[in-house]
Amino acid sequence: MFQCTFRRTLQKINGMKPISRRNFNTKLTKGLGGVAVAASLPVNCVTAGPLQKKRLGIALVGLGSYSTYQLAPALQDTEHCYLAGVVTGTPAKAKKWANTYGISEDSIYNYTNFDKIKNNEKIDVVYVVLPNSMHADFSIRAARAGKHVICEKPMAMNVAECDAIIRACQEAGVKLGMGYRLHSEPYTQEVKRYAKEKTFGNINYIYADAAYRSTSNPNQWRLNRKLSGGGALVNMGVYAIQSLIYGTGENPISVSAQEFSTRPEYFKETDETITAQFEFKSGAVGNMMTSHNVRANRLFASCDRGWFELDPANTYIPLGGRTSQGELNFEQESQQKLQMDDFAKHILYDSPNLAPGEMGKRDMMIIEAVYKSIVQNGKKIPLSFEENYGFGG
Ligand code: NAD
Repeated sequence: MFQCTFRRTLQKINGMKPISRRNFNTKLTKGLGGVAVAASLPVNCVTAGPLQKKRLGIALVGLGSYSTYQLAPALQDTEHCYLAGVVTGTPAKAKKWANTYGISEDSIYNYTNFDKIKNNEKIDVVYVVLPNSMHADFSIRAARAGKHVICEKPMAMNVAECDAIIRACQEAGVKLGMGYRLHSEPYTQEVKRYAKEKTFGNINYIYADAAYRSTSNPNQWRLNRKLSGGGALVNMGVYAIQSLIYGTGENPISVSAQEFSTRPEYFKETDETITAQFEFKSGAVGNMMTSHNVRANRLFASCDRGWFELDPANTYIPLGGRTSQGELNFEQESQQKLQMDDFAKHILYDSPNLAPGEMGKRDMMIIEAVYKSIVQNGKKIPLSFEENYGFGG
């Protein structure tokens, strides 16, 4: 475990170049600057000074499939945070989770008594993993309870709700992060490096597909507009939007979009397939496809002096990728573990917030522009943003 973390840290120190096991060992024996190494040590390896802080307690709100199969298992391996509490509307789940993870009764809440979490010193961070329509309410209540917040994607139902979450966190003086796990993941970090350093020259064209085929329960909340806020676009489309932005290192300056429907009897209220074209200030052109009716998961960028791609680009694990210079090969571990540890380090040591709330708001602004373009038959909608979160933190 320690070596994994350490090797990842070395990757960071070395400008995100892939480091093989042999390479890693060589670098380790040659030694590195002591300060950089000490600052990167897992918290329980650090013995003195301000770094000697506790691990942060995280409470998961909503014990559905993402919390059950990804976040809770990842929290068994995290170094800077741990599962300290749960919030659920189902007493049977509360009991099961308490038994499985040894959560004490005073750290189990339901949606009604949730605000009492403010008196719980064991809980530092509230992670909102509920249907999209509930993100704003619980993120704001968590902030008002004095807890740091991680909010799942999409950040909320609209830009106004994103603003309200950001404001609540600012007023409460707590940190806000998005559940954008890929910013902590090595293949994605490598792509961000290509964009930043122009490893393959200027990026002329980039595309991102993020889609899966939905055939199960037609009454699920993801197909209910009141609970989801939209269809494929707000679910998988967020990944495609993110890919285009960190793949170019730029926010887009315009978007034109189209919607396609082939199974209206199943997708009664939400979008099935959306394509959209983006312009970037550098001259790069972007194209995305997102769908609840297609299987696709890829990022590809064509540049002046070569190309790079991730395929798959945003599944949990394993990701894959290659460039015009060859195959990429990074060690892979739980993205959720890396993400939650990175957010905990942001709180504990003021390291960069890799996916701040403003990034979630920016993506919601793009989502709203895509829907606006569709309503106006693909009209080009201008976009402008105050800050560039292309590189993420
Ligand atoms: P899920 O349907 O499996 O779980 C939703 C949970 O919310 C359940 O425990 C359910 O009981 C609870 N809930 C409370 N009120 C509800 C209501 N009115 N209707 C339906 N459920 C209600 O969903 P999930 O896949 O765990 O997704 C939860 C959130 O996490 C979503 O915002 C989703 O976009 C996000 N997510 C993110 C990732 C990622 O990789 N970052 C992956 C999966 C899901």
